Amino acid sequence: NHPALAARTAVVTGAASGMGAATARLLAAGGARVALLARRTDRLDALAAELTAAGGQALAVTADVTDQASVDAAAKAVHHAYGRVDLVVNNAGVMLPNPLSAARLDEWTRMIDTNLTGALRVIRAFTPDLTAVAAEGRTADLVNVSSIASHVLFPDYAVYGATKAALTQLSAALRTELGPCDVRVSTIEPGLTDTELPGHIDNPELREQLGAMFTAIPALAAEDIADLVAYTVSRPRHVNLRQSIVLPTRQA
Ligand code: NDP
Repeated sequence: NHPALAARTAVVTGAASGMGAATARLLAAGGARVALLARRTDRLDALAAELTAAGGQALAVTADVTDQASVDAAAKAVHHAYGRVDLVVNNAGVMLPNPLSAARLDEWTRMIDTNLTGALRVIRAFTPDLTAVAAEGRTADLVNVSSIASHVLFPDYAVYGATKAALTQLSAALRTELGPCDVRVSTIEPGLTDTELPGHIDNPELREQLGAMFTAIPALAAEDIADLVAYTVSRPRHVNLRQSIVLPTRQA
């Protein structure tokens, strides 16, 4: 157990794979109780079983962050099982690149609804917990997983970058409301990381282009991001590591 994680109750969205699953593993290994949220129930059940078998505490909660009723039901399930949470990792996201000329309103809507409005739904559901916990003198964290794409411009990734820039801005702005309540807000901005994220790209050329980047640059592992999240939330309570960019060493 980790002294700063052992007594904590976490919600991790996008816990079915990649960074979310790795973060849930590390938090659970540190002794935190972890609610695992995503759409793929089978993945969540398998992860919860793995974490429990390893001596940790985990709860699989099927949830779609684009669906308000689903987020409401998930919050209810988490509260029923664990009571208030003190650590929220907003990690669920999709990346669907295409040129503007493809005019993919379906993809734009899905990215905005998942990466931005989805994060807001989760913030709306659990921020009252964070402020209540902080008012009792305990550590409370909101961690938002944004991207280097919120700073660096990539052709064909305009809308994805826009959702991440919005999330980074949202995090910074929320600090002005939550910081004075002793709730930390942290933004994590990873570069190229080896996960399932590219699997949803439906443009073969862009899928290949991204594949070539993974071949050219040794990417980060999902565990590298989990490590940064765990570090961020285990600082002393008065220390808010508010924004971290983490890149593979070879990524320009
Ligand atoms: P993955 O695709 O492996 O993970 C994304 C997770 O989000 C999955 O567990 C998925 O589970 C979940 N998810 C997607 N849509 C929804 C939804 N509507 N409701 C609930 N959960 C959802 O990729 P990563 O681990 O890479 O992605 C994690 C975050 O990191 C994302 O926000 C991504 O934008 C960001 N990021 C990734 C980078 C990279 O290079 N990989 C770089 C910078 C940032 P399910 O499908 O079961 O719902």
